[in-house]
Formats: sequence, structure tokens, C-alpha cells
Amino acid sequence: MPIPTTMKAVVLHKADEMLVESRPVPRPGPGEVVLKVDCASICGTDVKVLHRTLQGQPAGEFIMGHEYAGTVVAVGADVDEFGPGDRVAVEVHKGCERCENCIKGWYTSCLNYGDLAKGHRAKGLTCDGGFAEYAVNHINTLYRLPDNLTFEQACMVTTAASPLWAIDLMGGYLAGETVLVQGPGPIGLIAVQLCKALGAARVILTGTRDERLAVGARLGADHVINIRKENLAARMRELTAGKGADSVLECAGGPTSMQEALENVKRGGRIGVVAWYTGPVTMDMNLAVRSNVRIYAARGEGGMNSGRSLALMSQGKIVADPIITHHFALDEVHDAFRTYTERIGNALKVVIHV
Ligand SMILES: [Zn+2]
Ligand SMILES: [Zn+2]
Repeated sequence: MPIPTTMKAVVLHKADEMLVESRPVPRPGPGEVVLKVDCASICGTDVKVLHRTLQGQPAGEFIMGHEYAGTVVAVGADVDEFGPGDRVAVEVHKGCERCENCIKGWYTSCLNYGDLAKGHRAKGLTCDGGFAEYAVNHINTLYRLPDNLTFEQACMVTTAASPLWAIDLMGGYLAGETVLVQGPGPIGLIAVQLCKALGAARVILTGTRDERLAVGARLGADHVINIRKENLAARMRELTAGKGADSVLECAGGPTSMQEALENVKRGGRIGVVAWYTGPVTMDMNLAVRSNVRIYAARGEGGMNSGRSLALMSQGKIVADPIITHHFALDEVHDAFRTYTERIGNALKVVIHV
């Protein structure tokens, strides 16, 4: 199929003004490929982008979307790693490849974050993304999609890689532990599965919506606690013989979530923070200091954990399908966002088919 010169794309103008418009199809530069996008998904960061509250996003018009997957249709002159027809998953961040953080794999906290001239890209966040018929990606953001995974599942790779990056920073070793996962959104529901896949003895999932907690129980959570209906601290004491969880994955992002993490982690335990917060939060840091609690904040999908996530998905150890609840066409992007933000029909992950 010849590549057209123009395409449909979701373009952000001013805050909350997102239009489906015609844009030129991008061309691949050195190290880049052009993808025919198959589908894309919406995450909380896209909502911040839409409101123009995400730090570092371009001031002018740009194409939204950072979770997408598709097929390579054209490659830059120097690219022999991928070719037309390759099905790929993408990760959001391309490091600048010149700062010390990028060299060690911490490209989601690149010291040149958002500096396009220095080579950094965060697709759909600091430059054009993938809510479009075509997108350009550097090869170091691409992972060959295993044959048994669909494009929809591939869209979930960042959702999986973010908690996996937190676990990586926490030392990567959960075997035999009791892990408290806070927040049964898409990230928390995948975190539950990651903990089980990595050998956690018990996973306790907390949240405020029974429907989401029920999905968590189906995906492997050993205990679920609705913190609006039950006393979290009392339940945790009961479940852990008074010790608290060996580690906590904070995926909730509520105003009291960090305080709950500190109250329910054991002495010397670890907290991995994957959530984003709507503003500053209050917590008693004496709880952390008194108990040698180690806190690891993780931004996005660093450390090449997208590839590891795909491997776990391909082996069936992480299933994305129960988390993918709604489907829309590109022209229905406004309905897709409304369904996601208002959680219509218990929406978890909303996919846009291009
Ligand atoms: Zn995201
Ligand atoms: Zn860098």
C-alpha cells in the first residue's frame, strides 16, 4: 500500500480543544521509522495534556497520544533493525542518549527532558504522538510484537512497564513478599499481576470501587480491601500479624495515599510510587524515618521495562484484556475521553481504533 501524504490526526489546540484534522504524514529521519498506527489507548497523562497542565508539553498545536502500536511502513535510510511489515509496540520516551541518566537507562528522567534539539522525545507529551493514522518513532522506542499479542494488548505496554520500572528501582525482588498494591486502576491491576508473576506470596489490593476490586481479585489479588468500607490499618494488621506489608506499590494517587502507604508498610519496607497526584500531599515523614522505610518514585516506563513487560504478556503472566473495557474510532475521540474521565460503564482502559 502506498503511503499517502496526509492523514487524520487528533490535534491539541488550546486547553481542552482537541480536533480531528488533516496533517502531513511524517517522514522518517535517521534512526527512525514510520508506523501505520493500528490503535491507541488513553491514560491519565493524556487528560493532563488535554487540559494543558502537563509540564513540558509544546505551547503550539501538536498531535496527542503516547500509548499506541502499529506496523512499520517506512524506515530511515540508515535503519536495518526494522523493516516494512514489522508489527511493533512502542514506548513513550526516547532519551537524548547524551546525558548521564539516559546512558544508565533512566531516560524517563532525562536531564534534557523535552529538549527536542538535544534529541529527547516523549511521544504525544513533548512532541507529536500517535492519535493519528501514522506516527514516526525512533527505533530505540520500538519492540517487536510477539505473534500471540494483539495491537490492543501492545498499547498496554507502558501501563505495565511503569509499575515494573518501580519494582526494578525497588530492587526487583518480590519473591515471598506480602505486597500492598494501592489503587485498582489499569496500572494497579497490572501491578497485581506483576507481583504474582515475580513470586510475591500475597498481594493485597486496596481501592474505593468494588467493581474494580473485583477485577483485581480475578487477576490474582489474594485480598481486596475497600478502604471506604473497611478500616485499612486494622485489616492490614490482621493480615500481616501486625508487621505491615513487605512492600507497597502506590498506584492510587489520592490525597491520603502516601500516608496510607507509610502506615501500612513494615519497618524497613519499601514503597514504590507509580501514581501522579493532583497537587502536594501531606504525610507524616516521621513514619518513614523512624522505620527506615525506603521510598522509590518511578516515572513512566524506564529501564527498558517495556520489553520485559511484553515478554510477560506474551507468556500470559500479565493479561490486559480484562482491563480494556471500551473501544472507539479515531473520529469518536471526544466520546472516548469522556468515557475515560467520567468512568462511564466502569471504564478502565479505553482504546481508540485508527
Ligand atoms: Zn500513559
Ligand atoms: Zn538524556
